[in-house]
Amino acid sequence: MALARDAIAAARHATADGHPPATLDEIVADVSARARARGRARVVPALNATGVVLHTNLGRAPLPAPALARIAACAAGYASLEMDLPTGARVRRGASAEARLAALVGAREALVVNNNAAGVLLALSGIAAGREVVVSRGELVEIGGGFRIPEVLARSGCRLVEVGTTNKTRVEDFERALGERTACLLRVHPSNFRIEGYAERPALGALARLAHAHGIPIVKDLGGGRLGHVESPSLREEPTVEACLAAGADLVCFSLDKLFGGPQGGAVVGDAARVRALRDDPLARALRLDKLRLAALEAVLDAHERSATEELPALAMLLAPAEALLARVEAWRQRLGPSDERLRVIETTAAVGGGSLAELPLPSAALAIAGDDAEALARALRCGEPPVVPRIERDRVLLDARTISPTDDERFVRAVAAALGVTLAPAAATAPADRPA
Ligand SMILES: *Cc1c(COP(=O)(O)O)cnc(C)c1O
Repeated sequence: MALARDAIAAARHATADGHPPATLDEIVADVSARARARGRARVVPALNATGVVLHTNLGRAPLPAPALARIAACAAGYASLEMDLPTGARVRRGASAEARLAALVGAREALVVNNNAAGVLLALSGIAAGREVVVSRGELVEIGGGFRIPEVLARSGCRLVEVGTTNKTRVEDFERALGERTACLLRVHPSNFRIEGYAERPALGALARLAHAHGIPIVKDLGGGRLGHVESPSLREEPTVEACLAAGADLVCFSLDKLFGGPQGGAVVGDAARVRALRDDPLARALRLDKLRLAALEAVLDAHERSATEELPALAMLLAPAEALLARVEAWRQRLGPSDERLRVIETTAAVGGGSLAELPLPSAALAIAGDDAEALARALRCGEPPVVPRIERDRVLLDARTISPTDDERFVRAVAAALGVTLAPAAATAPADRPA
């Protein structure tokens, strides 16, 4: 009914604007287009064949099976969210996960909130509201989705003091800006962009020494949240949470759904008194996590505590060797049409995504599909069941194996076969060359 009302109102407005009156058929077509658009706007599971592992538009890190089991169990009924079961006494929500997170990264305290943007907002408003925050001009970045450092600072009630230049900032630049009203230094991971060539910025440790010599803290917005045991050549230049703390950062803020491989969330770790003060801030209450994400986070902590990187799907995807991906893409091609001229197995480059050094190459493999209309095929794939989200490169549709879980291979090839309109060959029990023609 509401959709029909909207369609009729739109038709009236169009007539008022001088357009010819809409026919009944046109209005009916508009109502069904509105209904379809509303259906499309729903959140449905999709297969990510873009090769961007931490794809924000596709929900970032997929969760491990134990996290799913705990979400389902806690969602279906009640859970010990704020209760110590042996005594029945009330306990602080997230206390256990936060203590484990702090121990994991070697921090005195940890606080978990809705996402990293919330963590940065809380940290800055808690430490520096009404005072000045000193930031390098090279780090006044936009991370994406409206997260712009100058705007976050303004919203936290702090005054931004820019120092240095876009490409070069030195310790002395920070030193000159320090004064009575300085609350803290802020260091931001520039995430999805990089300044190359004639560029320089001080080491985090040097800035931390400067801050501490002046009796003020330094906050690091790390973003990615890589832990020390998560190692991969493509993450070579991505700092770890532990390294930021060791360099002297008083507070480190990071996402839990990027390189940490967990549910959406943000962590603020570091100095005990400062983290506790943030926890007591009324704003923290508005940014807290619910039982489902805490249950998932605890399962992800289980894996990190055992350094079991490969048990976390997002990290397993990041670390998968390119040769293994190539073999899977070849198996896809065998199923979809080994003699189909449109299909090629190619070596390509995937991306970490999530603003974590997106430009460091991540060698990968993809099925490239040539055709007259790459956009139309991509659309058919996205509208399939399950939806498959590809990327388009040089007029070809690419299906990157790095972001398809091997356990989804069967669903994936079925969906691709449907979009291509081909019949799927049975799964090969033997090597393709041994199969009868
Ligand atoms: C991703 C990112 C953010 C935003 O984190 P969300 O978890 O998406 O809120 C902020 N700062 C940096 C440096 C980031 O990389």
